[in-house]
Amino acid sequence: MSAETRTAGALRPAELIQKKRDGGELTDAELSGLVLAYARDEIPDYQMAAFCMAVFFKGMSHAETHALTDAMVQSGAIVDLSPLGRKVVDKHSTGGVGDKTSIALGPIVAACGVPFAKMSGRGLGHTGGTLDKLEAIPGFNVELDIDAFLAQVREIGMAVIGQTAELVPADKRLYALRDVTATVDIIPLIASSIMSKKIAGGADAIVLDVKVGDGAFMKDIDSARELAEAMRELGVRAGREVVCELTDMDQPLGRAVGNALEIREAVATLQGEGPSDLHELVLGAAGHLLALSDLGVDAAEGIRRAEAAIAGGSALSAYEQWVRAQGGDPDLDALPSAPVTRLVHAAEAGYVQRIATTAVGEAALGLGAGRLRKEDEIDHAVGILCIAKRGDEVGVGDVIAQVHAHTEESADAAAAEIATAYRIGLEWPGEVPIVLDVIA
Ligand code: URA
Repeated sequence: MSAETRTAGALRPAELIQKKRDGGELTDAELSGLVLAYARDEIPDYQMAAFCMAVFFKGMSHAETHALTDAMVQSGAIVDLSPLGRKVVDKHSTGGVGDKTSIALGPIVAACGVPFAKMSGRGLGHTGGTLDKLEAIPGFNVELDIDAFLAQVREIGMAVIGQTAELVPADKRLYALRDVTATVDIIPLIASSIMSKKIAGGADAIVLDVKVGDGAFMKDIDSARELAEAMRELGVRAGREVVCELTDMDQPLGRAVGNALEIREAVATLQGEGPSDLHELVLGAAGHLLALSDLGVDAAEGIRRAEAAIAGGSALSAYEQWVRAQGGDPDLDALPSAPVTRLVHAAEAGYVQRIATTAVGEAALGLGAGRLRKEDEIDHAVGILCIAKRGDEVGVGDVIAQVHAHTEESADAAAAEIATAYRIGLEWPGEVPIVLDVIA
C-alpha cells in the first residue's frame, strides 16, 4: 500500500496541496489533519515538501497560521511548569551569527531571582545553536529529562536543555524537511515553528529576539517586524506574554563566532567585560524579562538589577552554579582551544563599513564550528574573532580578525574568506544601534 492510500480516510493531501497552490484557504480541520498525519509518518515527505512550497508562494492567512501552530503543539507533549509555583521566563532568538546572548542572559536573570527555563536548539547552516555552544564546556549535559529540568530550575533558578523528542515532533520533521527544500524563510512557517516550541515549552513570558540583516532569515526591518508580530500574536493567543526585540544582524554579534570562543565571550559579558553590542543586548533583554516576571519591576529597574548582578559578581556565580549543575566545568581553562591561529590584516585604510555576516558564519562552518548536515560532528575549539567591528577605524596592516583553526590549510582558507567579508571605506558608516525596535 502506498503512503498516499494509507493516508486515505477523509484526508487527501494532493487536494490540500492543490487548494493551497491555487491560493485557497485551508480549514482548521484540513491543516490539523495534514500536520498530525505527517507527524505520524502517514504522509510522505514529497507531499509535505510540495505543500510547504505552495505555502512559500501563496502564504497563509492568520487563521491558517493559528491552526498550523495549534496542530504542531498538539503533535506532542506540553511541559507543565506550574509545579514551580512561579512565573517562568524564556528567551528565543530567530538565529544569528555569534549569538551567545542566552548564555549570559540566563545567569543574570536567575541571579535576579527569576526562574529561567529554556529549551534550545542546535545550529544548522551558517547560524550556531546554543546547545552546541554549551557542549563546548567539558562535561556539560544538555539532555536532562523534564523532571530533572524542573528540579534544576527549582533548585538553582535556571536550566537550558535540548528539546525533548516528545515536544512538537511535527516541527522536528517539518523543519528538517524545510531545511532541505528551500522552504525555511517564509513567515507563517517560521512563526508557527518557533512559537509551537515556545508554547509547548511551558514558559509564561517570552522575549523573542528577531534578528534583522545579512546574517538573519529576515533581511529587512519590515519583514522582521511582520515575523515579530506574527509570533507575538501566536504567543498571546496561547495565553503567553511576549515582547519582541528586532536586533541588528548586519555584523556578527560581539566578536566571537565559534563555540568555545563564544562561551569565553559570554563569560566576559558576565564579568562586565563583554563587547558593547552584546552587553547592551543582554542588558536590554534582561530588563524585559525581569519586567515580565513576577518581581513587579519595570524594564528600567530590570536593567539596573541586571547591571548590579554583573557588577556584584552574582551573575557570574549563577553561571558557575548552572554549569556545574549540568555536569560542566566552568573554568575557562577547561575549554578547548584550537592549535592554529591566523591573524587577518586590513588591506586598506578607513572605516569598517560592513562585515558580510553570512560569509563569516560560513567561514566558521568551513573551519568545523557548525554542521552542514545534522549528523556532522562539531569542532568546538575553532572559530573567528571579528576584532574590528562596523564603524571602527583601521589602518593598512591592522589586525581586523583572528582565525582559530584545526589545520594550517583551513586557517588559510578561512582567513581569505574573512578578509573579503570586511568592507572598508573612507566614510564613517554611522552608529547602528543593536536594538532596532521593540514590539510589546
Ligand atoms: N528556527 C526555528 O525553530 N524554526 C524556523 O522555522 C526558523 C528558525
